[in-house]
Amino acid sequence: MTNKKDNIATSSSDPVDSPPPYTPLPSQSREVEPNETTRLYPNVPKHSYSSIPTPTYNPPQQPSITAYYQPETVILGPAVSIFDLRSEPAVTWFDREIVTEMGELGLLGPTIQGYGCSGVSSVAYGLIAREVESGYRSTMSVQSSLVMHPIYAFGSEEQKQKYLPRLGEIIGAFGLTEPNYGSDVGGMQSYSQKKNGVYILNGSKTWITNSPIADILIVWAKSKEDHKIRGFILEKGMEGLSTATIKGKLSLRASITGMIMMDNVEVPEENLLPHAEGLKGPFSCLNNARFGIAWGVLGASEFCLAKAREYALNRNQFGRLKDLGKLAPEMISLVKRNSCGKALEIARSMRDVLGGNGISDEYHIIRHEQNLCTTNTYEGIY
Ligand SMILES: Cc1cc2nc3c(=O)[nH]c(=O)nc-3n(C[C@H](O)[C@H](O)[C@H](O)COP(=O)(O)OP(=O)(O)OC[C@H]3O[C@@H](n4cnc5c(N)ncnc54)[C@H](O)[C@@H]3O)c2cc1C
Repeated sequence: MTNKKDNIATSSSDPVDSPPPYTPLPSQSREVEPNETTRLYPNVPKHSYSSIPTPTYNPPQQPSITAYYQPETVILGPAVSIFDLRSEPAVTWFDREIVTEMGELGLLGPTIQGYGCSGVSSVAYGLIAREVESGYRSTMSVQSSLVMHPIYAFGSEEQKQKYLPRLGEIIGAFGLTEPNYGSDVGGMQSYSQKKNGVYILNGSKTWITNSPIADILIVWAKSKEDHKIRGFILEKGMEGLSTATIKGKLSLRASITGMIMMDNVEVPEENLLPHAEGLKGPFSCLNNARFGIAWGVLGASEFCLAKAREYALNRNQFGRLKDLGKLAPEMISLVKRNSCGKALEIARSMRDVLGGNGISDEYHIIRHEQNLCTTNTYEGIY
């Protein structure tokens, strides 16, 4: 992986600016082909072709995202080194070095204050999640929200000092889901039993991100004594602990997923998370993880939008069949149906982005959306 540490933004003291005003991209003139000068409606004033954007794709000169969110994005300079992963072929396998690099760049547990963590805002955390490819984002999210967060929020001071500065160099996993209980977490069957000053853990967890490669595993289990759910820090190599890989996963391929099997695993008292009791513990972790997902998925969708635009603008197929008199009516029907359907779908999605303003005429999207309802219908073929 190319190391782009040179991208690190240096000015942490820059003021928080509002986003710069929108400046439209300069319009481009396009070459006019001779047969385009024959006009269908000669009385309609001719508009200038120079105002029509060229069909040749020029990647938009996007201002750096750091311009919008200072100082939250001070950390984004480093994050951008992982940005390329959205499109690189490497995203179909897991590269351990990338996690190490994330740790070195301060991207893991970034909102945590102290313990070698970056201590940046939640917005910065979201922006980092937005930049990273989904498979690696899952790994990063587990490490940050599901491993570092519970240690920070519910762990003892000793646990914080022991594990937090090393998470990057070491990898963590979060074991909550079980083969018989997924969404219904409260029904979990894994249990802990206290004997001779240690906790004995039994049970199994499944669909656990990172488990086969994890050095530590935050495992949630129900106490035999008071039936309360508690969290434990298990360490790789503990007797009775095994972590088989789940194979054949065709989604999030760059993230490794597995099981956690516990057969009378002895966990010392000092590895119990002392301040977590009940579902509050795991649910607070999931709240943090979901926050990251909310940002991360938009990064993935932004990539899809940019890639699809670039692809479509560069792809020329079939030539100019209509002008050559070679177009069959069915072709027109198909293209009309496809365009109208897609346009309406896009207008609806974009209206949603604007929230309440999306239905105001001031922003025009609702007008387009309503017009597109008609275009779907008139002239038929939907
Ligand atoms: C790639 C991947 C990584 C994962 N990583 C982790 C991890 O690191 N740690 C971890 O603990 N877990 C992890 N999970 C597990 C994940 O959190 C669970 O898959 C999820 O909680 C759903 O549980 P389930 O698969 O048992 O589905 P089920 O709970 O059986 O749900 C099946 C379907 O029923 C729906 N459903 C469930 N209950 C209700 C209800 N009451 N009303 C209506 N619909 C309902 C669900 O929405 C779902 O569509 C991971 C899963 C995947 C796929």
